[in-house]
Amino acid sequence: MTSFKEFADACETIEGIASSLEMTTVVSSLLRRISEFGDPDTELAIVSRFIMGRVFPDWSDVELGVGPSLLYDAISRASGLPVTRIKQLVRETGDVGETAKVALEKGDEASKSQTTFLDFTGADTAPAAGLTITIADVFERMNSIAHASGKGSQQTKVKHLQYLFGTASPVESKYLARIVLEELRIGIGEGVVRDAIAQAFSEDVGEVERAYMLINDLGEVSVTALHHDLDAVAIMIGRPIKPMLAQLGSFDDIIAVYAIEWKFDGTRVQIHKDGDCVRIFSRRLEDVTNSLPDIVKLVKSRITANQAILDGEVVAVGAEGKPLAFQEILKRFRRKYDISAMVQKIPLYLNLFDIVYLDGVSLIDEDLRARRARLEEIVAQHKQFSVAEQVLTDDPAIAHAVYQAALDAGHEGVMLKNPDSLYSPGKRGKNWLKVKPIMETLDLVVVGADWGEGRRANLIGSYLLACYDTDTGEFLEIGRVGTGITDEQLAELTELFSQYIISEVGSAIELQPAVVFEIVYEEIQKSKHYASGYALRFPRLVRVRFDKMPEDADTVERVERLAGG
Ligand code: AMP
Repeated sequence: MTSFKEFADACETIEGIASSLEMTTVVSSLLRRISEFGDPDTELAIVSRFIMGRVFPDWSDVELGVGPSLLYDAISRASGLPVTRIKQLVRETGDVGETAKVALEKGDEASKSQTTFLDFTGADTAPAAGLTITIADVFERMNSIAHASGKGSQQTKVKHLQYLFGTASPVESKYLARIVLEELRIGIGEGVVRDAIAQAFSEDVGEVERAYMLINDLGEVSVTALHHDLDAVAIMIGRPIKPMLAQLGSFDDIIAVYAIEWKFDGTRVQIHKDGDCVRIFSRRLEDVTNSLPDIVKLVKSRITANQAILDGEVVAVGAEGKPLAFQEILKRFRRKYDISAMVQKIPLYLNLFDIVYLDGVSLIDEDLRARRARLEEIVAQHKQFSVAEQVLTDDPAIAHAVYQAALDAGHEGVMLKNPDSLYSPGKRGKNWLKVKPIMETLDLVVVGADWGEGRRANLIGSYLLACYDTDTGEFLEIGRVGTGITDEQLAELTELFSQYIISEVGSAIELQPAVVFEIVYEEIQKSKHYASGYALRFPRLVRVRFDKMPEDADTVERVERLAGG
């Protein structure tokens, strides 16, 4: 059994490291140690998830369901400090992990020893002196927390957390608290864990990656790599795979025959049909089956195969036959109540464009032509349920005509797909190109920022953007940007902005409006979250507009116009 301290110590080491290569080495030696001295079949999976701040596999619907206030309550009880003091510490440190650490260091020993905890049977017990917690203990408690339901469940959750914080050392509690909120803040992403697994068990990185794309759980991949079984990993019906992605292209890319399809303006779905059982997953692989009974019914009646995994885009169409805004579809997807009323109000149309599994056989290693032929064979078309039309051509003029028709119908543009390409789960490559109108950029004022995390803790990691309101002279917030900025630029920008800092609370910085960023984005959406009433989807920094004053920034009227409002 491996102690949780070993994990916490590795996190502490990683927090002080800047290079991802070094981080990989630390994670890989942690995994190797567990495989040699621990209980690898359980602990490896848990640690491979914990290190990314996750408790359950990516594909799992289980949620911890612990919000900040429950967490503060548990830290308060374990440390003996009042909740108000815990909240104050959060404001001062800007981090629940540091808060837990400081609280437990400061905590009053006498009050700690008087508290009682729940053991695994649910009985109240006093903590035994000198107890250490193992990685498996932490997971078991978290699992019990996630599954606590009904009357008294909040109490149960707090008691489990209280037990963990009551037993943990201050450093352990720092990472415990962060895991509870599923934000480890040590800068470890999937890439590092994937490389670490390969390094720890002398496996090929590509094989680790492939297995991850297919089964969506680095925990399980880690255990499989230990047993050198990666090549046996296959698609499982009912378990979502990472969808194939597209990169930006243009008609100049058409140098051979391409399969041209409309790029529908809707949202991606992955449908798993296993006999009478149908499950639907969103682009982020959440199970959205319950909110889509209409699609489930169509799949059952219109897919002639017994088993299939299908890829497609769901579109909501308004009274004028044009696709409705993305937010309208989200109303369907996020719906938990009154689903049948919503089915009537916002009818959905499904355009299927791919198939990755058919009656026990994976199709990802067949080319698009073959997959498409299989798809057409098993779909009985219906006005709300069809295979996306496809034109095979090497003529850019024909592709352009399809593009114009898609835009006229209110869709986003076209997809250019290489008909000879295999299905590459989770990959963004040249085999799927998206062509859409280029968005005009926006010049926005930077009014706030956030310090980065982990190795970027001394750098500003993201910027709060605002547009200009000519009527009031105010700057109205519209979103945050953190992408499109290289490490080098981050350092330069941090220096530039240091002179404009007005105040700091935790990791949040208030900035004097002085600098204008030119921003590209994929879409402007209505939003209640920001004062401008709009938000940007996928904003990226193009350049700093040193030539512009804050008042020269784009106005809220221009944002409104671009949003089509
Ligand atoms: P983007 O989200 O801009 O990277 O574009 C890729 C997305 O376009 C996919 O994830 C799908 O949700 C969507 N899409 C719409 N129509 C198609 C199509 N015919 N083939 C593939 N993806 C499509």
